[in-house]
Amino acid sequence: MTTAEAQVEIVAAVRDWVEREVYPAASDYEHADEYPEPLVEDMKRMGLFGVTIPEEYGGLGLDLLTYVLIQIELSRGWMSLSGVLNTHFISAWMIRTYGTDEQRERYLPRMATGELRFAYSMTEPHAGSDVQAIRTRAVRDGDGYAITGQKMWATNALRAGAIMLLAVTDPDADPRHRGMTAFVVEKEPGRASQRGLEVGAPLKKLGYKGVESVELSVDGFRVPLSGVLGGAAGENAGFAYFMGGIELGRVNIAARAVGIATRAFEEAIAYAQQRETFGKPIAQHQAVQLKLAQMATKIEAARLLTMQAAERKDAGERADLEAGMAKLFATETAEEVALEAMRIHGGAGYSQELVVERIYRDAPVLILGEGSNEIQQLVIARRLLERYAL
Ligand SMILES: Cc1cc2nc3c(=O)[nH]c(=O)nc-3n(C[C@H](O)[C@H](O)[C@H](O)COP(=O)(O)OP(=O)(O)OC[C@H]3O[C@@H](n4cnc5c(N)ncnc54)[C@H](O)[C@@H]3O)c2cc1C
Repeated sequence: MTTAEAQVEIVAAVRDWVEREVYPAASDYEHADEYPEPLVEDMKRMGLFGVTIPEEYGGLGLDLLTYVLIQIELSRGWMSLSGVLNTHFISAWMIRTYGTDEQRERYLPRMATGELRFAYSMTEPHAGSDVQAIRTRAVRDGDGYAITGQKMWATNALRAGAIMLLAVTDPDADPRHRGMTAFVVEKEPGRASQRGLEVGAPLKKLGYKGVESVELSVDGFRVPLSGVLGGAAGENAGFAYFMGGIELGRVNIAARAVGIATRAFEEAIAYAQQRETFGKPIAQHQAVQLKLAQMATKIEAARLLTMQAAERKDAGERADLEAGMAKLFATETAEEVALEAMRIHGGAGYSQELVVERIYRDAPVLILGEGSNEIQQLVIARRLLERYAL
């Protein structure tokens, strides 16, 4: 089977599964803020935890574009399912790209099956956009490091068996580029308290429910030298590794935005043909048609930007500009489409009976996460000024 055939097959299988299993179940899980264990087990069986992990490590060995198309389908069903995968996917890419041979052998095969799941943690209570300001410290201690600090918003970190964690290792380096290292912190999945690591209760969120985001308190937690991502070459190189990972995260967030916007649009255009006012379906009122046209056009543009960013990254080309543009445009589109879909539903859209209410609550986190859209615009502008420098 060619890569293109494998892509078509798995994306169709995910789409079919989402419509069959996720559509009827998502709202109940979401309203109860319950982790969707049976759905996650299905995702493991479908190989979704290893889509981009090379076949030699037991993954499907498919490209970022395939992953993006899968993320769109998952988010069309329920965005939280894509959240279960995202931190894992970024961590797997970081291990594959920057890890030592031993680290690839140790982690990737179990990550491919979903047996070992990863969280990804750089944000702290006082530092999100300004990653250089993190305070978590890792101090050399015999044959390893002792890590101490506070992390915030670590998604999947309770159930994960490992956390890709960023800590300061050389605070005296150039103040604009303090030495930081990426650590693979192995932990027991599901346990809130273990020696030197406390996992807080899941934070209560507006949306994006069912997948946990937690605070972490780390106090002298010991990580052996083998836990330094990239081995000796990785010491003080962690900031760049995390920035490489977050670029992929931006493409993934754009894909989620396309997924939820597509679903909101599908719900809205169906409802507009059923609901009647003033003697005709509201879809026959031109004011509603204008909304539908705007929504569909922007979603299509967002989809193309997202696919373009994935294709550039797959081709090994620099893609920070494209990833930033895709993330910015797709997430602002999702926010706008979610509101328009609710308006088209009138009062019904405000009811928890309908999926547009959930999408309206899910959309904003995409604007804030993986580099807020304000930061995204700074990244885009910086690249444009480089490209058009006089
Ligand atoms: C549900 C959820 C899940 C998350 N999951 C993870 C995770 O798994 N791992 C992880 O590490 N993090 C995670 N995060 C953290 C997320 O990445 C940060 O919240 C995000 O980077 C923004 O950081 P902040 O919240 O500290 O906001 P701040 O950095 O304090 O920013 C506050 C506001 O100021 C603006 N701002 C900041 N600097 C500038 C500037 N220079 N110019 C203009 N505007 C600026 C921002 O755009 C924003 O509007 C998650 C967050 C949420 C809400």
